[in-house]
Amino acid sequence: MALRQVRVARRAVLAGGLAVSAVGFAGLPAGAAARSSAAPSISSTSDWNARDASGSIEVLDSKPTKIIVHHTATPNSDDTSQSHAFELSRQIQAFHMDSNGWSDTGQNFTNSRGGHLMEGRHKSLAALEGGTQHVKGAHAGEQNSVALGIENEGTYTEASVPGSLWDSLVSLCSYMVSQYGIEPGAIYGHRDYMATACPGDVLYARLPELRESVGAALGLAVVQPVSWPLLRPGAQGPNVTALQMLLGARGMSVPVDGVFGEATQQAAARVAVERGASGPSCFASRVAEPGLFGGLAWEGVTPVLGAGAGGEAVRAAQVLLTSRGHYVPADGVFGDRMVSAVRDFQVAGGLAASGVVDRVSWQRLVA
Ligand SMILES: [Zn+2]
Repeated sequence: MALRQVRVARRAVLAGGLAVSAVGFAGLPAGAAARSSAAPSISSTSDWNARDASGSIEVLDSKPTKIIVHHTATPNSDDTSQSHAFELSRQIQAFHMDSNGWSDTGQNFTNSRGGHLMEGRHKSLAALEGGTQHVKGAHAGEQNSVALGIENEGTYTEASVPGSLWDSLVSLCSYMVSQYGIEPGAIYGHRDYMATACPGDVLYARLPELRESVGAALGLAVVQPVSWPLLRPGAQGPNVTALQMLLGARGMSVPVDGVFGEATQQAAARVAVERGASGPSCFASRVAEPGLFGGLAWEGVTPVLGAGAGGEAVRAAQVLLTSRGHYVPADGVFGDRMVSAVRDFQVAGGLAASGVVDRVSWQRLVA
């Protein structure tokens, strides 16, 4: 299947809410990738001697629309051998089946520090090669039915990403984008959806570069998505103050002191659970990561606000606007002055000047 032209979706709505058209290239029909990506070498479940799944594998007759990047949170091993990579796959499968009680490995694919690519959940490789179906994994909550999950061996909270792992990740993502017509901008980190630090600050910070590399490999334009920030225990500043006001607007009583302390963390965690943004963390973290707030959970506290609105949510937006250099009194009133402050902020950020604080505006305000 190498070298065949792959059509990509002409329009896709990214996390930032931006509608984007694939860029047409000279001599190509609009929406076609300039190049396809050759299949990298991927070891199948039988190659690494996987156990049989304990239940049926759900194969969806639809293409995934995004890729979610994880780290395994295992040690940063210097063993780059294939046998080590296969052992890692067996360990993850055993943990997911025996401890988490899942039917099989959670992620669709696994990438080792030595750059060995492996099928995770059974049938994922055949589905990818076919390019029309998606194996529903267990790696990112409600995203599982639309997102491919890749577990990358190691812990990238501080350590740098080995070149071998990076190169194989670019190859695998390029092949996925090519096979399924995924937008290269639709490569995300686990934390973009769930309350987790995965895939670590270092690997997460390289996602823009990963998207660009995939886009370059395929001759596709890349639109970088806007993401929600991750708050950690003890975080301070206007984002925390705003979150506290937003929680207050939802009837949750927390101190408005600008510090992400225990009471705020607990209230925020309830919102994360409600939004399906709380779940098992990646393989070797083994336990939940308490006190984190991020991803989709932000959507549970950020209502769309326009002229005439009032209260604590408006006050939160006012605090954020002021912190971004668009001063407006924090009076909780969405009057004319607020409308023009929002418009100014939107124009400065290249957004449509609607004067309404919508999802994208919130994302920019807390970014
Ligand atoms: Zn993860």
